[in-house]
Amino acid sequence: MFLGELTHPVSRLKGIGPASTTALANLGITTVAQLLTHYPRDYENRSQAVGLAQAAREHRPANTIIRVTNHSWIGHGFKKTLKIHIEDVSGQPAVLVCFNRNFLEQKFKPGTLAVLFGTLEVKFQEIQGTAFDLEPVPEGWEWGQPVPELGGILPIYPATAGLTQGNLRKAVAAALKDYAHSIEEELPAGLLRRQAFLPLVQAFQQIHFPQTMTLAARARETLVYKEFFHLQLVVLRRSAAPKAEARPARSFPQEVRREFLARLPFALTPDQEQVLKEIEADVESPVPMARLVQGDVGSGKTLVAFLAAIPLIQAGFQVALMAPTELLALQHAENAAKLLDPVGIRIAFLSGNIKAAGRGLLLDQLAEGKIDFVVGTHALFSQDVRFKALRLVIIDEQHRFGVAQRQALMQKGEMPDLLLMSATPIPRTLALTAFGDLKVSTIKTMPAGRKPIVTHLAKLENQKKVYDFVRAELAAGRQAYFVYPLIEASEALDLRDAISMFDHLQTEVYPEFRLGLIHGRLDEGAKRQTMEEFAHGRLHILVATSVVEVGVDVANATCIVIEHAERFGLSALHQLRGRVGRSDLQSYCFLVFSGGLTEVGKERLLIMKDTSDGFQIAEADLRIRGPGDFTGVRQSGYLKLSIADFAGDAGVLVEARAEVQTLLARDPGLLEPDNQVLRRLLEKAPPFNDDLIAQ
Ligand code: ADP
Ligand code: MG
Repeated sequence: MFLGELTHPVSRLKGIGPASTTALANLGITTVAQLLTHYPRDYENRSQAVGLAQAAREHRPANTIIRVTNHSWIGHGFKKTLKIHIEDVSGQPAVLVCFNRNFLEQKFKPGTLAVLFGTLEVKFQEIQGTAFDLEPVPEGWEWGQPVPELGGILPIYPATAGLTQGNLRKAVAAALKDYAHSIEEELPAGLLRRQAFLPLVQAFQQIHFPQTMTLAARARETLVYKEFFHLQLVVLRRSAAPKAEARPARSFPQEVRREFLARLPFALTPDQEQVLKEIEADVESPVPMARLVQGDVGSGKTLVAFLAAIPLIQAGFQVALMAPTELLALQHAENAAKLLDPVGIRIAFLSGNIKAAGRGLLLDQLAEGKIDFVVGTHALFSQDVRFKALRLVIIDEQHRFGVAQRQALMQKGEMPDLLLMSATPIPRTLALTAFGDLKVSTIKTMPAGRKPIVTHLAKLENQKKVYDFVRAELAAGRQAYFVYPLIEASEALDLRDAISMFDHLQTEVYPEFRLGLIHGRLDEGAKRQTMEEFAHGRLHILVATSVVEVGVDVANATCIVIEHAERFGLSALHQLRGRVGRSDLQSYCFLVFSGGLTEVGKERLLIMKDTSDGFQIAEADLRIRGPGDFTGVRQSGYLKLSIADFAGDAGVLVEARAEVQTLLARDPGLLEPDNQVLRRLLEKAPPFNDDLIAQ
């Protein structure tokens, strides 16, 4: 059987009771396959004996046989804690302090022998340990004999959800015992030989319970390669498959677009022109478009999307634009009204907040084709939203939507074109891999006249300088953002928060200016009102949490002060910084950090200071934090890799990709005897769900 076919419930494994079954389910583990792919994050090497004195001296875990000599107690009543006094075969004494483990009193009476594994330190003139395991000694071993080989190398699992490491080890061992022999190889035999990979069964055994650390490393290499190989196999086969021709090729009328362009007070940038051409070709072709336009905030993506929509609308089709938040959707709607209304395009706005009568009317008009361009939030994919002729779906900040949500909207048209927009650039390695047949267009240059934002790093103690600088800008008629990591004060975290700082800034720092406050817990109405006041210049300062990350576009704002900048991800900082620099005014970003920055923290802020290129920032983010944190990858459910790591294993990815390319060039149908295993695997137990990879 292939791994993916081991769907047997873990509850059937020996030694897994109802409590463990529930705990495993909390980890997302219900099947044997899921259990076997819950890989260790590290190992405890218990294969070398380490006596008590040596352990305390060298700060490494003790691993030896001990004898219990005595018990004593610290404290009394409910709070008393057992101390087990022990010695090792050299006669070295030590004490195990059993916090919350007084029950060990019965099991480890004086005279008992046990194998001890645990960290020890010298404290109160004795060797003490509080974190330790005691296991039975090997059968037949007696005190006075030389210490035999102990324990071996044990896995440490990343999350245990209330299970002990011991419970998990037992569960995995049981799964291996019952099922390992039935696991079928998943890579071509020739490849396995050439690369000297471990056979899959051994890879599973050695990744969980390695005989040596070298074998553990080999097992990981094998599994990482296998995972990337399969991913590439699925992705590359799909992009090689001929596309269904869904419609006749055709061209669209240009008059309205020409009129629109003539009204624009500026010319398109060369990148915008290029991307528009790429979209144009897709839209006219018989295969529906699936294209991602990426470019920094303010690079003019939305304008390109509007330009793409106009000829379709002139030809009688409808277009939907979906944004992840009400604020952002509203801004798009206003923008659309300003730009598209003058050329006769009928625009509507739909969000969850539009209720009853208004909503009913709007839905009717949409279904009858009396609305050309609808802008909205998630509300757009509710069941009762129907179109007469939906031809183009535009999705902003695409990574904030799940695949299923996107598809729900796509289903409202007859294979409409799909245009995704993202200001969170997808690093090249991911784009290559994740999006099989998604084409990517990039807008690299900003509209002319934009000055690069000047970014300063400032220590919290130097904030007065920052505040004074901002004051001068405000006095010159500009506006500013202040951003905080928390909405309100938290006892657990010693951080500034938006609500308290709003009061402080208004009363103590900037009493002469008007401030507004916006955060995620305010209702949409309040948020919208504050935003409007800020947009119209009636508020000088907007104090906010990262809700301003998307959706705010105020050209007159030239300063953004981000306090506790070290608490934000690089991509978030980049997005926040994009709130300023939206006109030809010189803009400034102040990243204020508190003391005690880690090396990584420093590196991150320096990248922000030195780089304004969103792509470089995204790559750095990926490198420093790893893809688990990468916005857009986790949230959308793209690429649930079980062992491989896009950042750390990027070299393997490239290697596996080349291997698959060669293989498919030679044997696209996977018909060679050596490749049959791959075809059967894809048929019986595809390792990657097609839906999860793009579109
Ligand atoms: P994005 O969607 O990438 O954040 P937008 O399309 O919203 O960017 O454009 C940001 C601002 O720049 C808008 O006010 C838009 O009208 C303006 N803009 C777009 N393209 C140009 C251009 N070629 N020249 C000058 N301004 C532009
Ligand atoms: Mg935008």
